[in-house]
Amino acid sequence: MHDELFSVAGQVVLVSGGSRGIGRALAEGFARRGAQVVIAGRELATLEATARDIGGELPVTPMRCDVADPDAIQALAAAVHEEFGRIDTLINVAGVNKRKRVETFTPEEFDFVLDINLRGLFLLSQAVGRLMIERRQGTIINIGSLNNYAPLKGVIPYAISKMGVAAVTRGMALEWGEFGVRVNGIAPGFILTDLTRKLWSNPTMQAWNRANTPLQRLGEVGDLVGAAVFLASNASAFMTGQMLFVDGGVSAGTLWPIEL
Ligand code: NDP
Repeated sequence: MHDELFSVAGQVVLVSGGSRGIGRALAEGFARRGAQVVIAGRELATLEATARDIGGELPVTPMRCDVADPDAIQALAAAVHEEFGRIDTLINVAGVNKRKRVETFTPEEFDFVLDINLRGLFLLSQAVGRLMIERRQGTIINIGSLNNYAPLKGVIPYAISKMGVAAVTRGMALEWGEFGVRVNGIAPGFILTDLTRKLWSNPTMQAWNRANTPLQRLGEVGDLVGAAVFLASNASAFMTGQMLFVDGGVSAGTLWPIEL
């Protein structure tokens, strides 16, 4: 049976933070399923190399955009709209982190994290959302984090930004449902990428992860593709304002070392 329920073929999909890591894997996952994908990030050369590597049945288009820059966001939304005539799915992946004790954060460091992870996501969703509202159609997928379950020590501005992402997700879902625009999120667990490689190369952290993750492993970027395809497709047509945890079970509860 050829099932259209989960199809994303023919969609125009914009992935912010599509040059590396999770965004790159999602861009490849959609391109392989016949979507026309645009990847955005800060450096054109990196984006071009990624686009060459992952271009599937339809070419992947690189477009430069620093989501900390509101003008660049407007220009990106306009450029994608001009080239492809519409945006069916926006995936907000662009994100950064700084790991420090809370009392040592400077205002600049705080703004760096919040401007990219939260303000950038809000403004890009707003710019693309306006176009989706006009068409009475579209889906937005925001990448959250385990900080949406409970904050992690050492990354408090990041936790604040991701809690804000959950608020944006639910808030835009409330306001845009009447226009046929759905807004959902994915909260990934611990995924091995450039952002986290140093952390997970520490044997103590590896042991801690195995002990605290029901599925007993780190996530891989490919683990997130299924949830994103689901949220972008008709399979989730009656879902909006939700955050799906794809975390190996970390947020299911607390594991403790008792013998049963
Ligand atoms: P990476 O560091 O591997 O990738 C980050 C991506 O964001 C890159 O494509 C980068 O592109 C882009 N980016 C960063 N800053 C900007 C900016 N100002 N404008 C546009 N693009 C930008 O990280 P991950 O793949 O691990 O993380 C991706 C997302 O997933 C983030 O939102 C992160 O918070 C989230 N996440 C990650 C988890 C993990 O364990 N890895 C767990 C939970 C959530 P470039 O540098 O080329 O501009």
